[in-house]
Amino acid sequence: MYENIDNLKELLNSPRKIVITTHRGPDGDAMGSSLGLYHFLIQLGHSVNVITPNEYANFLHWLPGNEFVINYEKNPHKAEEISNNSDLIILLDLNNIDRLSSFSNCVSNSNAIKILIDHHQDPDNNIAKYIFSNVTACSTAEIVYEIIHKMDMNKYMNKNIAECLYTGIMTDTGSFKFASTNFNTHKIISELILAGANNSKIHDLVYDSISAERIKLLGYCLNEKLLLYPKNNAAIISLNAQELEKFKFKSGDTEGFVNYPLSIEGINFAAFIAEKEGLVKLSLRSKGDIKVNEIAKKYFNGGGHINAAGGISDFSVNETIKLIEKIIINGLK
Ligand code: 5GP
Ligand code: MN
Repeated sequence: MYENIDNLKELLNSPRKIVITTHRGPDGDAMGSSLGLYHFLIQLGHSVNVITPNEYANFLHWLPGNEFVINYEKNPHKAEEISNNSDLIILLDLNNIDRLSSFSNCVSNSNAIKILIDHHQDPDNNIAKYIFSNVTACSTAEIVYEIIHKMDMNKYMNKNIAECLYTGIMTDTGSFKFASTNFNTHKIISELILAGANNSKIHDLVYDSISAERIKLLGYCLNEKLLLYPKNNAAIISLNAQELEKFKFKSGDTEGFVNYPLSIEGINFAAFIAEKEGLVKLSLRSKGDIKVNEIAKKYFNGGGHINAAGGISDFSVNETIKLIEKIIINGLK
């Protein structure tokens, strides 16, 4: 897991040009771990750029360092030039290069040494020279914390790093409630609060700063779009492009919607389908031993974790609902 820690320490011993990147549609963990690592590395005297494949949700724009993030889709030439001239590329919160979407060629073609830090199952070993993979970690932000700790560099921990890593851990654990949350998670969180992360401020900025349209869209999903299959302990919510447009959809607006059906007694599988950017995207969540990453891989060119996965459907929204109904009826385990 951390057998390459000395190699990493050695690499970071002299000033490097470093690119940090993460998966398409960056979530709280992707941005929290990327910017947390950024604030750590700049203190060591490296020249660091965070490049995301595309844009991310507004509720993450308060993160310290947000103003320096380069969006590949908006600034492809700048992103390519920086990547081609970098010594190290650190890939965070992904297990497959395809998760970088259109930025993946640029990263693959760069001669930089690649380092992967991730908590997804089955990381692709060809993706990086040094791999820090811990599939039991609740988040990539947790692994970034551990790496700083294992390199004996805790003295560099500061408020910026703490706020970013706190956000990554908080969002990937559903506010410390998923099964991946354990005593170590809380131990790290207490260290981050000690280092200056203002926990109630962060919860407010991430969860209680949303637009009126977003909360209405959630109401619409729950009131009018929730399909329940009580005999099969399952639920599906779907939104087509017209519905998203009606509620002035912005990136990140539907994040977390998939979790709501799991609050219903007896429901232990939820699928959320949304037609975005011309693609039919899926989020799958489960409780217990229903392996949604296997379902995502088998039917939707996707992947993820045992209880949280995603992918893309080759079919229309309605056809995708029918397919998921079939999967549900055939048995989810
Ligand atoms: P979400 O449903 O929040 O988009 O994603 C949940 C989990 O599934 C995340 O851990 C994410 O990495 C993974 N995931 C989501 N979409 C895809 C996809 O298209 N391909 C793969 N391989 N994983 C995905
Ligand atoms: Mn993650």
